[in-house]
Amino acid sequence: MQGVDSVQGVERWRDKVAFVTGASSGIGRAAARKLSRAGLRVAVCGRRKERLAVLAAELGQGSVMQLPVDLTQDTSLLRAFDRVRDQWGGVDVLVNNAGVGFAAPLVSGKIAEWREMLDVNVLSLCIGTREAVRQMRERGGEGHIFHVSSLAAYRVLPGGGVYAATKAAVRSLTESLRLELREIGAPIRVTAVSPGYVQTEFHAGFFGQESLAVELYSRHRTLEPDDVADAVMYALGAPPHVQVHDILLRSSEQPT
Ligand code: NDP
Repeated sequence: MQGVDSVQGVERWRDKVAFVTGASSGIGRAAARKLSRAGLRVAVCGRRKERLAVLAAELGQGSVMQLPVDLTQDTSLLRAFDRVRDQWGGVDVLVNNAGVGFAAPLVSGKIAEWREMLDVNVLSLCIGTREAVRQMRERGGEGHIFHVSSLAAYRVLPGGGVYAATKAAVRSLTESLRLELREIGAPIRVTAVSPGYVQTEFHAGFFGQESLAVELYSRHRTLEPDDVADAVMYALGAPPHVQVHDILLRSSEQPT
């Protein structure tokens, strides 16, 4: 019987191709590092080219493809998937991680911020998923799609309604993808990872002020990006018949 030793399980993905969105910081960068160290080739995507170049230099240029993409631009994302197919034959693992959040209340928020959250957190995830499933089916082997969701998919905090709505959408999209993949008989698994507070660049953007993020992170211990990336590696390494559906995790000190 195959064990659940995640190192052993992840071994079968060596030399496969992972596409990680939002790899220029935080959780995405941690996931890209772990996937690369597990022997996968990693296509790293984000707007900040210089960050992607630093990551590629750290992990080894030959096994990293830098994809400077603004996910609000559909054609740019589609071209990135074409590039991976042309150069590496397609994607085996997709980590739909990129996301933005803004404190943008329904009664007073900015339309541009609502739109950006919907575009990045929901629409680009759908586009990436479709492209990845196409490429995985062309390749014919095992595939795995991750959605980095949030505890916000399960509860709403004041002012965070639209962000929470995008993550609730991701929760629905995880289940609908599972059902569709079953229906077409594709050996592709889907897993959501839904963390509470993680210390990254996310909250400085959410509050529009670095000091408020620092204050939040000083209230209690948060998760580290590596904690979330470990959850990705666990689900990836699980035996092929095990579909890890959604991993909810928070720091043991987080109250809500
Ligand atoms: P970061 O702000 O550190 O990272 C966000 C990543 O998304 C960056 O790499 C950024 O790259 C990328 N990104 C944002 N907008 C775009 C865009 N338009 N085009 C391309 N890339 C984009 O945050 P986290 O690492 O914390 O966030 C990762 C995921 O985790 C998100 O989906 C977030 O919702 C989720 N999450 C985070 C939590 C937290 O407490 N931090 C809690 C729960 C969930 P660049 O700026 O270079 O484009």
